Amino acid sequence: MMLHSLSDRISYIPATTQPLSADIGIVHGDSFDWIFDVGSTAAIANAIQEFDKEKKIVLSHFHKDHIGNIEHIDYCDMYCGDYTYLKLHKGTEIRSPISCEDGVRLTIFPIPSAHAKGMLGLEVDEKYAFLGDAVYGAQKKGRTAYNVNMLQETIKTLESLKARRFLVSHDAAFVRDKEQVISELKGLYSQRIPGEAFLFL
Ligand SMILES: [Zn+2]
Repeated sequence: MMLHSLSDRISYIPATTQPLSADIGIVHGDSFDWIFDVGSTAAIANAIQEFDKEKKIVLSHFHKDHIGNIEHIDYCDMYCGDYTYLKLHKGTEIRSPISCEDGVRLTIFPIPSAHAKGMLGLEVDEKYAFLGDAVYGAQKKGRTAYNVNMLQETIKTLESLKARRFLVSHDAAFVRDKEQVISELKGLYSQRIPGEAFLFL
């Protein structure tokens, strides 16, 4: 399993397309291994199980490529957004940002997103922010569509983060500059058509 290191505390397992499985973030705290998304393949579940410490899980959103392995992983706490909670009926529902210290400073926060309701991000030491699929649109009538109001809210939330590095699931680069990601989203927002709720790409 390819574990990529971002710092002495933070690493990730890259996403795959066949089968579809999201990037997995791992933050090695003093007391816990914090896992952002759990993927959907047995190989990923096994890799996550092998981390030494007790695990705390953060699920970005309810899509299978992000949460598929949740039944196959032992953990002491799991945090998720409202729609993920509706699907799993377990975990701690996060409706507003919460922070904690575990040798690193961690903040779990909701991200309004056109991609899925109940999206969560995880900011680490105000340097890195795992964003799951928050920057993507949704599939509507076979096309990618952004709810324009939601896109505006996504931009606002991401601008308010201190982290300069955004970790964008499924993106070939994965580690992106904050400014670059926000300027791309603003570019999309500028293509909206007045009076139309959705921007179709
Ligand atoms: Zn998704």
